[in-house]
Amino acid sequence: MEASMSREKRKKGNRKGGPLQAYERAYRRLARQLGSLGYILKGSVQVRWMQCGYAACRCHRAPRFRHGPYYWWTSKLGGKTVTWVLSEEEEKFYLAWARNRQRLERIVEEMYRVSAKVAQAKTGQPPPSLRRR
Ligand SMILES: [Zn+2]
Repeated sequence: MEASMSREKRKKGNRKGGPLQAYERAYRRLARQLGSLGYILKGSVQVRWMQCGYAACRCHRAPRFRHGPYYWWTSKLGGKTVTWVLSEEEEKFYLAWARNRQRLERIVEEMYRVSAKVAQAKTGQPPPSLRRR
């Protein structure tokens, strides 16, 4: 008796247009975004405008005269921060790939958030990773 009642409750919550249905749609939308994501790059790419070593150069007079843009790749490797200046060829796509990775992380965070709401709706409590001890 008790079991059939809780099954009824679950069905009700699963109804079309219910919260679980909305979470399901949101989750599928995120999964599609993952599927169409382009190539990714670990680390970040920064754009910098530089001053050169010649004191007489106008790049020392104002920031708008600085040389560049130069594209720098930065990441942590084995606990150390490593930086490389990218070649012209690399800067063409690595900046976009680094942005794709940031987008990937935002999508995955959103998937965790939606999943937690589903767990909450199904069990009445958040998933173990979000429970307070
Ligand atoms: Zn200069």
